[in-house]
Amino acid sequence: MRWTPQRQVVVNVLAASDGHLTGADLVERCRAADAQVIPSTVYRTLDVLEEFGLVRHAHGAGGQEEYHIQPATPHGHRYCDRCGRHWNIEPSSREARAIANAFRGDDFAVDLSHVVIVGRCATCRAATGA
Ligand SMILES: [Zn+2]
Ligand SMILES: [Zn+2]
Ligand SMILES: [Zn+2]
Repeated sequence: MRWTPQRQVVVNVLAASDGHLTGADLVERCRAADAQVIPSTVYRTLDVLEEFGLVRHAHGAGGQEEYHIQPATPHGHRYCDRCGRHWNIEPSSREARAIANAFRGDDFAVDLSHVVIVGRCATCRAATGA
């Protein structure tokens, strides 16, 4: 693979983030760092990095891909659909174990990195009465 300066920009931006960046976020940050970077370069670089296991994608509340730099422990995500806050579902948490256990009877191993729960947080429920 040719390692171009533009690809290095993508890696630098990813390394400076704590994950949970969408492709569009990354394009924006990369272009702020180097206006030469084009979106297709960002997306192709992400594909290559994911193939090499350096990046792993999850999904946001709307299904869009979000990227995590490795080695992050695979975790699930919980989103509030009103305020947009999100929380990680860590593998050792009660919630993660309950989800894994729910499918154990089918001998189905849940990929926690693809568990996305969308709902409404306590603050928003209090504010909206929903
Ligand atoms: Zn995450
Ligand atoms: Zn996916
Ligand atoms: Zn909320």
